[in-house]
Formats: sequence, C-alpha cells, structure tokens
Amino acid sequence: MTSKKLDINLNFDNSYANQLQDFYVPFIGDVAPNPKLIKFNRTLANELGLDFSSLRSDDDIAAILSGGVEVLGASPLAQVYAGHQFGGFSPRLGDGRALLLGEVIDPNGNRHDIHLKGSGRTVYSRGGDGKAALAPVLREYILGEAMHALGVPTTRALAAVSTGESVYRDSYLPGAVLARTASSHIRVGTFQYFAAQGDHVNVKLLADYTIDRHFPSIKKNPKPYLELLRMVCERQAHLLAKWMQIGFVHGVMNTDNMTISGETIDYGPCAFIDHYDASAVFSSIDRQGRYAFGNQVSMAQWNLARLAETLLPFIDDDPEEAVNLATKVIQSFSDTYQQIWLTGMCKKIGFTLVQKGDLALIEQLLELMQAEKVDFTLMFRALEDVDGGLAIVRGLFNESSSFNEWVLLWQQRATKELLNSEERVALMNSVNPVYIPRNHLVEAALQAAEKNSDYEPFEKLMTVLSKPFEKRPGLDVYEKPAPKEFGKYKTYCGT
Ligand code: AMP
Ligand code: MG
Repeated sequence: MTSKKLDINLNFDNSYANQLQDFYVPFIGDVAPNPKLIKFNRTLANELGLDFSSLRSDDDIAAILSGGVEVLGASPLAQVYAGHQFGGFSPRLGDGRALLLGEVIDPNGNRHDIHLKGSGRTVYSRGGDGKAALAPVLREYILGEAMHALGVPTTRALAAVSTGESVYRDSYLPGAVLARTASSHIRVGTFQYFAAQGDHVNVKLLADYTIDRHFPSIKKNPKPYLELLRMVCERQAHLLAKWMQIGFVHGVMNTDNMTISGETIDYGPCAFIDHYDASAVFSSIDRQGRYAFGNQVSMAQWNLARLAETLLPFIDDDPEEAVNLATKVIQSFSDTYQQIWLTGMCKKIGFTLVQKGDLALIEQLLELMQAEKVDFTLMFRALEDVDGGLAIVRGLFNESSSFNEWVLLWQQRATKELLNSEERVALMNSVNPVYIPRNHLVEAALQAAEKNSDYEPFEKLMTVLSKPFEKRPGLDVYEKPAPKEFGKYKTYCGT
C-alpha cells in the first residue's frame, strides 16, 4: 500500500536528519490497515506544542502515529547504532522496527524526538518483522508514563495505536505501534557504531552534535569531549540513583539501550522489585544475572567506559593522557552516584541532609529487608508512621528484634533533624511512592487488552499511576504486592 498524505503541519525541525547524514537511512513506515488510537497522551501533545486540530478525526492521528503517512516537514528515518549486548559487541544494530519521525521544539524551546516503534521493517531489521505486538506496546506506555510520574527521567509515551494487523510471535497477536518522545535517541551505541569502524570524523561530528543539543554550556570548555563524558556520567548517575530508589530493574542495559541524555529507554523485560533483593532478575534471557537489580550501577559504569573509549581520540592528543583522563572520569562515576543515591535514600527515611553514619544505617536497613524479604515500596511508605508506632512496618518485619534495634538507631539519628513531624512526613511521602507499576497489575492490564480487547484495567492503572505519591481512597489493591499465586515474575524482550 502506498503511503497517504495528510494536510497537517507539526512544525518539525529536524536537526538529526540535517546534520548527521551518515547516521541513518530515510525510511517510510508501513501503512497500517486500520489504525486506531488506543491511548493518546493529549497532555503531552499539548506540552510539546503538537497541534493535531486540523485533522478530521482521531483516526488521522492514529494513521500519522503508526507511520504510513507523509507529513509535511517530517523526515522519517531509521537510526543506525551498534551495541554491546550482554557484553558481546554487535557492530550494527539500528532501528529495526522504529522510525524517528522528526523533532519538534516545545513552547519552552526544548527539542524532542517523535519516534515510532513497530512501524515496519527497515534496512536494520535483520531477521525481524519490524512490528510490535499490542502487549509490549502497552507495557512501554504504562512503564514510561509511570516512571515520569515517579520523577524518573524517561522517554514518554505519546500514543499507542492498534494497527488492525496481526503479528506472529508464538501465536498471532494484535499488532500495535508506540509513539514515544525523548529529548533524543542518541545512545552509547550510536557513538560505538563509527568508533568501531575507526571513522573518527563521524564520531567527532556526533560528539559535537550531542554537545550542541544536550550540553551547550560545555562548548567553550578547554576539554569539551572529556566534559561531555563527565556530563553523561553525571546524568546516568542521577538516573541510576532514581532506579535504585524506586526498585526498578531495567533488565537489558545493553549499550544500545543507554541514552546520552540520561533518560530511561526501551522498556522491554523490565520490572519492579517487590521484596527487596539485590540479586533480583526478571528477564528470561538474563541467565547470568548480568543486569540484576544490584548490578545495575556497575553495569552503567561499564557502559560508560565503552562510551569513553569512543571519545579517547578527541580527549587528548597523547593517547596515554587521554586514557588517564577518561579513566578518572569513569572512576568518579561511583562516587557521584553514591552521593546522589545516599542523599535520596536519606530523604526516604526522613533526613534532609546526609550525616556521618547515615550510609551504614541505610545499608543495615536494606540488609534486613533482604534477609526478611520485605516489600520495598510498602516498607518505605509505611515508615512515615512514627506517631502510630510503626505498626505496619513492624508487621512487615515480623516484629523482628533486629528491626526494632534499627528503629532505635534511626530515631536517635532523627533527633538531629530540624523538621517537625508534619514536615518529615511530607518529605518522606514526596519520595516514597504508594503506587508503582506492580508486575501483576501490569500483566493483568495487558492480558485483558490482548485477550478481550478490554482496556479498562489499563486505563484504571494509568490513572492510579499518574499520581504515585498521593494515597487515594478505594485503591488498596493497587498498593499491595502480588498475591502468592502470581509466582516468580518472568519477563520477555518486547519483540
Ligand atoms: P531491543 O531489544 O528492542 O532494544 O532491540 C534490539 C535490536 O533489535 C534493535 O536493533 C531493534 O531495532 C531490533 N529489533 C527488535 N525487535 C525487532 C523486530 N520485531 N523487527 C526488527 N527488528 C527488531
Ligand atoms: Mg533497544
């Protein structure tokens, strides 16, 4: 089917297409037989300044956001990148089933990619069909928006469109496309692609583009490429601290799934921990536990070291000095992360600033939680209830004496805080969510949509997750961990 044209101007401003010619192949998406909007994020569309009002109907929005429509000013393209996947290097990956439709600039002057996933095969598809099934699309929609509401940098979901087509996985499944936005889709793997070919000109072009787009303040720095590395490390340290503070396991932290902007990307086999467990792994393909919950920080550092390697030729003319400088930056990632994480963890237990001894106190708590398999989200939220004698929390620890000893130490330390009890509760409740995308609830919402075209559980879950820190009446089931019969949660790559 040939693509159709619609009369709409979304004011695309396509810097990637214009400046990085060797980093993509122009591509048009497939025409979906019957595109329908399952969910459209109007709030986000408005924030981005996307004006669809000239279209006749929502079906036209669905047609545009499923890929097969020519839109004025869009320059749809498939990006090329490489990547270390579970430690092994793939020299060419790229968007096998995705398209960058174009970039828009929001009313605040910030640039965003409009990106489609599941829009058809591209030159980078290898054996894949270029499509996406409904459930993984809804999963990415739920997770992306939930993470945003939780205050975690992330790609956002703009729309989920059903295509009216079936896609074959183990059986035939309803097909869909996810339209998502990001401040860019530049990945560690984007740098690796030309670096692996020894094409320094293109790596430098990408580095300069990235600095212009994401870190313009470092342009005049005497060592801009070293500074670029430092900035990316800092963004990732912030991101990882957030993940670790809410119990998020990405599941597939390959270098092609790590952004330069520091946004979470590619919600495939991800999950939230229920009971605290540093060794938690959910992905069916992560057999060695490479991307286990407690490994994520060192894996991020490993990925950043791969980024550093691509930048070495521009960091210093003397190769040895370049390695020294980059190594120091990579090593400092651990300290930067630790500082950000600790500050955040202190807030979770009601402390405004980090004091001596706080790290040990928090580590002790986590050890107890691990030993007693205590629900991470429930525990931190319930810890505000000092006035109520911490009855719920003590129950989570089965009234253990070790936990009661910990409470005494914690309360002693709390006396050094200047907050009154109302302020302390407000601080804790602003960082300890009530509602997270509990694995069993996400699965139930996806099953209902996939099996019965019933979108009510999905819609309800989205509403609950839009205000994760605000406890509301009648939503108790959304707070609770999975029932025993849900069993061990296993996730699969969203292909
Ligand atoms: P992901 O695991 O989604 O990050 O994807 C890893 C690589 O596989 C990327 O290059 C994707 O574009 C590609 N890919 C994943 N699923 C498909 C598919 N169904 N068709 C074509 N390419 C795919
Ligand atoms: Mg990916």
